[in-house]
Amino acid sequence: MQTRLFIGGEWVPPAEGGTLPVVNPATEAVIHHIPAATAPDAEAAVRAARAAFDTGPWPRITGAERARTLRAIADGIRARLSDLARLEVLDNGKPLPEAEWDIGDAAGCFDYYAGLAADLDGEAEQIALPDARFTASAVREPVGVAAAIIPWNYPLLMAAWKVAPALAAGCTMVLKPSEHTSLTALELGRIVAEAGLPPGVLNIVTGLGATVGQALVDHPGIDKLAFTGSVPTGARLMAAAARDIKNISLELGGKSPFVIFADSQIEKAVEWIMFGIFWNQGQVCSATSRVLVERSLYPALLERLVAEARRITIGDGLEQGTLLGPLVNEQQYRKVLGFIDRARADGATVACGGRAEGFAKGYFVAPTVLTDVPPTAEVWTEEIFGPVVCIRPFDTEDEAVQMANDSRFGLAAAVMSADKARCERVARAFRAGIVWINCSQPTFTEAPWGGMKQSGIGRELGRWGLDNYLETKQITAFVSDEPWGWYIR
Ligand code: NAD
Repeated sequence: MQTRLFIGGEWVPPAEGGTLPVVNPATEAVIHHIPAATAPDAEAAVRAARAAFDTGPWPRITGAERARTLRAIADGIRARLSDLARLEVLDNGKPLPEAEWDIGDAAGCFDYYAGLAADLDGEAEQIALPDARFTASAVREPVGVAAAIIPWNYPLLMAAWKVAPALAAGCTMVLKPSEHTSLTALELGRIVAEAGLPPGVLNIVTGLGATVGQALVDHPGIDKLAFTGSVPTGARLMAAAARDIKNISLELGGKSPFVIFADSQIEKAVEWIMFGIFWNQGQVCSATSRVLVERSLYPALLERLVAEARRITIGDGLEQGTLLGPLVNEQQYRKVLGFIDRARADGATVACGGRAEGFAKGYFVAPTVLTDVPPTAEVWTEEIFGPVVCIRPFDTEDEAVQMANDSRFGLAAAVMSADKARCERVARAFRAGIVWINCSQPTFTEAPWGGMKQSGIGRELGRWGLDNYLETKQITAFVSDEPWGWYIR
């Protein structure tokens, strides 16, 4: 495990020497200390990224050459898959098979953007003009130095979603992982160095958002801010970006609905409800945390959901058979339990769940199902970011769509029905950037990801994710031998 920052291709101690403890959320044991970078480290990292962009080879070599390095990074991640997955469990708490899935996806993300990097070569687009004396073309070029600021729920995967397209585009980057889960991001430094990434192209600084994060956000040497995290932090970043008109993309929170019609099979509905809210302990921005069920199916579905939720094996993510690990840290644990306590006060019924029984240590919350939730209750309107689902009946399709869209968020939504036409109709009616039909959560690197309303600005993944890191330049040429003849005739 690293104890230094990765700046300009070197491992350096933080300027002010501080550290932050790494706590295993399953045992509450301090297992390591990461460096606490501050403003001088942000300055050094931006300087290194700036030099690599302004004078280094990375933006100037071909996309095919960049693709070779990206593929080597993907191979490096895959070669260490089991070590990285273990680190992710120790740091974040998630069950090991989920962590292995994440790390595999992170490698796949570098491979995917390698392909798009190669496609950038020779891509100048000729533009038809109405005046034969001119030719014009459009080329795409890297936006410059990017800062990536990411959350703790998918530590290496969230890094990959930003680092891979940025590097593919020819940008250089400073990555600031969450102070709660920095271990695998630091390992990425070692992997990119071994893959031959030139010094300064990727710099990794760990530390608090309010110190090193804010210093990056405020730095005039950053051209692009790519942020994933909460709405309040996103709003603060956007205000800061406005000062010097930084390019910004935001992936923020959600309160995503899942509408289930009465013609659905109960078993499939329950399986996808559970995958939609208990995967990663519900700490998923797109978690379908508001479930709406057509009234005739509601009683039977609720009974089965509660029975299955009670059966989920809770434990240390490293123990075989664990399907639900601890929440990421004590703060999140207290926050989620606070939501459940206040839900009771708001009139909701806790059908199952709450604090998990039988654990002397660790931040375990049992799979929780809340019923009788008033639509004005905080648990219905606010993001909980834990294994807590609210479930309500509905009577008509229009009512379900209206309730689903009645949120300040618009990240994801899901619908289940045996009626294909209805699924298509409801999918189009949702005000959300991601819609799942007859499932919830499967995410593919190839497809666009991002939210409407307060869930964010811009899209990651797929070709849309590459666009985040590219500027479009027009090149127009006067190709006529005739004089222009305006001032001089
Ligand atoms: P957060 O906003 O508290 O922190 C996110 C990152 O921002 C961290 O690295 C943090 O250190 C940094 N930060 C905090 N204050 C900062 C500041 N003033 N300047 C610069 N950086 C600062 O969010 P979190 O608790 O880490 O993550 C949970 C949130 O992330 C949830 O709301 C969740 O929905 C969202 N999320 C969204 C997506 C998506 O794709 N839309 C994916 C994952 C998580």
